Amino acid sequence: MAPQRSAALRRNLVAAKDVRAKAEGLARRVDVQRDKPSRLEAEEAVRTLLRYAGDDPEREGLLETPARVVRAFDEFFQGYEQDPEAVLARTFEEVEGYDEMIVVRNIDLFSHCEHHMVSFVGRAHVAYLPDKRVVGLSKLARVVDIFARRLQIQEKLTVQIADAIERVLHPKGVAVVIEARHDCMATRGVHKPDAMTVTSRMTGAFRTDPSTRREFLAMIRGA
Ligand SMILES: [Zn+2]
Repeated sequence: MAPQRSAALRRNLVAAKDVRAKAEGLARRVDVQRDKPSRLEAEEAVRTLLRYAGDDPEREGLLETPARVVRAFDEFFQGYEQDPEAVLARTFEEVEGYDEMIVVRNIDLFSHCEHHMVSFVGRAHVAYLPDKRVVGLSKLARVVDIFARRLQIQEKLTVQIADAIERVLHPKGVAVVIEARHDCMATRGVHKPDAMTVTSRMTGAFRTDPSTRREFLAMIRGA
């Protein structure tokens, strides 16, 4: 009995730590939201960058540019306003006992690197092994979008998607693979336009069971 109880206790401690980390993250987000500059201030900042680039923000072709850039920002970074766990929370159990791997491959991915604020573009493949509960397939793509529409590095993005699915669905395993081209490597710096970065996160059976992992990798290659 004792070892079981201590395992339960450990789980509770981990859960409590999760709750605390989440609360701290939320508090920070509230601060960031409160200090959020106005649209006019953001447009003014774009004018400064235009001048820094060596151009004249008052010339005709650039007059509307600051407003357009700020509107584009609203789209690129709308993921900050969205909660991926809320998206995943509506699960269902009536799946006629389906307990095989669920794979959504080739999810278009469009994000921005947090080091240079330029885009990286690619595809995500997301899979999980359900433990009774499943979630609508489009929700997996939505979760990719929500995390992608924030400033990211590909490694963190990969882990965040996998962990959100893990936390909400408690499946027998999660696998996320992302392949992307980074504009910050293509158009500046080392100038390698064809370099493809591949990252993966595997948990549960995808990590421990080689045949599950093989099946997943074969599926995302379209075999
Ligand atoms: Zn970069």
